[in-house]
Amino acid sequence: MSKILVTGGAGYIGSHTTHLLLRRGYDVTVVDDLSRGYRHNVAPERLRVLALADTNGLRRLLEAERPEAVVHFAAYIAVGESIGEPELYFSNNVGGSLSLLAAMSQAGVGRLVFSSTAALYGMPARTPITEDMPIQPVSPYGESKAMVEKILGWLGQCRGLRSVALRYFNACGAEPGSGLGEEHDPETHLIPLLLRAVRTGRPITLFGGDYATPDGTCIRDYIHVSDLAEAHILAVEYLAGGGASNAFNAGTGAGHSVFEVLRAVEEVTGGKAPFIMGPRRAGDAAVLVADSGRLQTTLGWKPRYTELREIVRTAWEFERRRPLR
Ligand code: UDP
Repeated sequence: MSKILVTGGAGYIGSHTTHLLLRRGYDVTVVDDLSRGYRHNVAPERLRVLALADTNGLRRLLEAERPEAVVHFAAYIAVGESIGEPELYFSNNVGGSLSLLAAMSQAGVGRLVFSSTAALYGMPARTPITEDMPIQPVSPYGESKAMVEKILGWLGQCRGLRSVALRYFNACGAEPGSGLGEEHDPETHLIPLLLRAVRTGRPITLFGGDYATPDGTCIRDYIHVSDLAEAHILAVEYLAGGGASNAFNAGTGAGHSVFEVLRAVEEVTGGKAPFIMGPRRAGDAAVLVADSGRLQTTLGWKPRYTELREIVRTAWEFERRRPLR
């Protein structure tokens, strides 16, 4: 049975990918320091509580497990927090990745799937976004991911590492029946916050209604987390089949405005999502939509969830069972 090491497997996208890898017959070991992830997302026998900074610990684990690839999610992800605490983001996201990469090269593990982000395009000049557009992040978070992509390029040249960077657009939803879902503390993402506003009756603040879009709110590409998990599995198979290093946009190609998402939430829940229109949030581009043609043609990926309401329904099935915060 093929072994895979997943870092950050106790987090949102990592736990969904682990779930799918196991269903496909992979033997998965999860490394997570539980600083942002949740113990309840991983079967205890699969979890190794280990910090990315522990290069020797990672090397020993890699030597013992000999995985065919590492799927590397473990990172901090909040754009706003990264502006307040840039050192934390560079240290954890860049330093942590370097420590992992050093351990991999010491242990002779040469394939990596990396969680990258659309945030590395910053404020792109046009949309949909293709992978060859300029990398010009506008936050330490986006920069930290861009820096790791650069490092991967050099390790490809100097060490023969083969890697796939998946540049996520807006991951959302939950795999039905898995018990997994989106849990961040504090939550900053639109869909869980809208669902919470429906449950509590407390208004959500929307970040700007004066963008140059049809209804004035920002447009994003919402990709279901299970479709994203599938992209990781295809990336693992691609590397196992000898595929060359590459970076892929992971989005559906469909854009939805904040108001469209709000309406979908109201339709799915049958409730009202109260909101206050606030000012723009720093660093928000008006429109971020993926051209995922490269992912579709090179890896054979295709989203299963193409309806925003269906995506929101899976998020609601998870959210409605959670205690109110
Ligand atoms: N958004 C909002 N209010 C919130 C959180 C998000 O209006 O409390 C908007 C945000 O400005 C963006 C969209 O919802 O246009 C998606 O934001 P999110 O933080 O979920 O993901 P991002 O696009 O930043 O990756």
